[in-house]
Amino acid sequence: MKTAINVGLLGFGTVGTGVVKLLSSNSHNYEQKVGAPIRIKTILVRNPEKVRAVNVDTRITTNIEDILNDKDIDVVIELMGGEQPAKEYIVQALKAGKHVVTANKDVMAKHGRELFAAAEENCVDLLFEASVGGGIPIIRPLKQCLAGNNIKEVMGIINGTTNFMLTKMTMEGLDYDTVLAEAQRLGYAESDPTADVGGLDAARKIAILASIAFGSRVTFDDVYAEGITDITTEDICYAGELGYTIKLLAIAKDSENGIDVRVHPALIPCTHPLASVNNEFNAIFVKGDAVGETMFYGRGAGELPTASAVVADVIDVARDIRHNVSSRILCTCFESRSFCPIDETVNSYYIRMLVDDKPGVLAAIAGAFGAQQVSLHSVIQKSQIGKFAELVLITYGVSHANVKKALNDLKDMAAVNKVNSVIRVIKE
Ligand code: NAP
Repeated sequence: MKTAINVGLLGFGTVGTGVVKLLSSNSHNYEQKVGAPIRIKTILVRNPEKVRAVNVDTRITTNIEDILNDKDIDVVIELMGGEQPAKEYIVQALKAGKHVVTANKDVMAKHGRELFAAAEENCVDLLFEASVGGGIPIIRPLKQCLAGNNIKEVMGIINGTTNFMLTKMTMEGLDYDTVLAEAQRLGYAESDPTADVGGLDAARKIAILASIAFGSRVTFDDVYAEGITDITTEDICYAGELGYTIKLLAIAKDSENGIDVRVHPALIPCTHPLASVNNEFNAIFVKGDAVGETMFYGRGAGELPTASAVVADVIDVARDIRHNVSSRILCTCFESRSFCPIDETVNSYYIRMLVDDKPGVLAAIAGAFGAQQVSLHSVIQKSQIGKFAELVLITYGVSHANVKKALNDLKDMAAVNKVNSVIRVIKE
């Protein structure tokens, strides 16, 4: 029986600092839970001269071999981020017989299959709860607590930066550029915000969740992603008047045409549970055939919330080590399912456009939509802008392919000045 569980920590940034803090402040509690103390033995960093937020007397190194070749280290926690060298270090740690805990969505969304195979071959655990939803438990619930269900749908707000921005635009009427600058000033958005505002961060996370939910591998490249860069204060204001709020949603559905997995902004009814998830908070809504609807809500990022998920994984690994078991729950992708092409996905759409303010124009526009089997649920004239009328239309459910064709036809109509916005509407 091991007397202590020794950890090698890769990365001493935001989350690494949180893990160091928790493993020191709550150590007695963890020792009781596990039956042995958990100790960080070595920390890998890039710059050993950097002043750290917490003082440690642990060995700091810049050489990964100091961790990989240390036979006393049982668990490697990877908190460096990025694809390489993080992925290579994880593979090497697994091959060296070390259990791995990571918060790295980039690596898990792209290389999950290879990493699980390496963990299985080497009889070690690979846990990654913090890679989606920060402090919110979602991976363990999907893999374990909801294992008795066929999961039908996972839908969530899983990018805190964009949710903070959309909340500010909604509550304070600020425009996109102003809220982006504020998110950057507060440290919520990177200086290059593309991964967040372009929907790519959420796409990586929903790839991970969809793989687990549907038991079939989904990678980042399989996810259709649209971001929030085209969302305007006008759209937010009109959505509000219609009883909707705009959120960046990550959606994975079990559809007849395959796995439907996508990230895009959407109007959701103000009464939907996700509509009241504001600021940097995340929430994930899961529908199972037995449990019905469940929702997981909390802080999707931050030093201690993310460390909370990482340390829970470390405690799980430590318990496995103490009980001499490993790799109990590795890859759960037992099937190889096809994907629903984005053109075949069906939604209602909100469309805002500027048209000539003349008799007969509305009928011509309705005709152009009708020609592509797009039925209009409502048409509202919002304002007069010079010689143009601003229209807001809501369609009935229609395929992406048909709405694209209709919009293409509208571009050629002389009476249509501009199609400003096209945003999906989630009704239920
Ligand atoms: P961070 O603050 O940028 O810290 C990264 C750490 O890794 C730094 O200590 C850095 O060393 C070290 N590092 C980077 N590249 C290295 C290399 N090639 N060799 C050795 N050390 C290297 O990152 P973070 O925000 O803590 O994020 C860590 C992971 O958690 C990422 O995968 C991220 O996606 C995930 N995550 C973060 C959050 C969050 O709220 N921050 C939430 C959920 C998940 P130096 O300090 O010497 O530069």
